[in-house]
Amino acid sequence: VKHRRAREAICRTGAHLAARGLSPGTSGNLSVRIAGGYIVTPTNASLATLEPDALSLLDEHGEHIDGAKPTKERALHIAVYRERSQCNGIVHLHSTYAVAYSCLCDRDPSDAMPPITPYAIMRLGRVALIEYVRPGDARLAELVAQSAREHHAILLANHGPVFAGTTLEAATAAAEELEETAKLYFILHDHPTNLLNKANVDELRLTN
Ligand SMILES: [Zn+2]
Repeated sequence: VKHRRAREAICRTGAHLAARGLSPGTSGNLSVRIAGGYIVTPTNASLATLEPDALSLLDEHGEHIDGAKPTKERALHIAVYRERSQCNGIVHLHSTYAVAYSCLCDRDPSDAMPPITPYAIMRLGRVALIEYVRPGDARLAELVAQSAREHHAILLANHGPVFAGTTLEAATAAAEELEETAKLYFILHDHPTNLLNKANVDELRLTN
């Protein structure tokens, strides 16, 4: 089977995310860009038990050309790859705290996460928040494409986050960072809290 390294990276990443409890049920999907197309996770697959030979191969237009039936959410991935030429790996999750956070009111759609820790700011940049659209609706992929021009971490309201990385590992690190940030936000809820101030945040963005 071709693209062995990309396939193994997807399986390893899936097992890691599942072990961390970030892909409940059969939720979550992963992809890697390869020459002339993409490898993506199959539809209705648990990320815990992916097999390198049982992934889906898409051509450069996102059409299924070989392997298992691909995730129904592949349009999100293709939309991001088209807008971000440096992106080679994408993680999309329905992880609990990130989804909970995506349901909150009154977030800034172009900078949605609270400035709690420096690493989250460095790893996530400004996180976009996209209004709720039915999964599979072409408009969702359009909105994701628009956001992907400026953002590599995107929250879909009442649904979950999408992360673009130069590698699948980088996208995974961002996914874990956002999940932890969302979790911290809820842990801190109702506690008087020092958030990072604007000068702190600007300093981190300048040195990154
Ligand atoms: Zn989804």
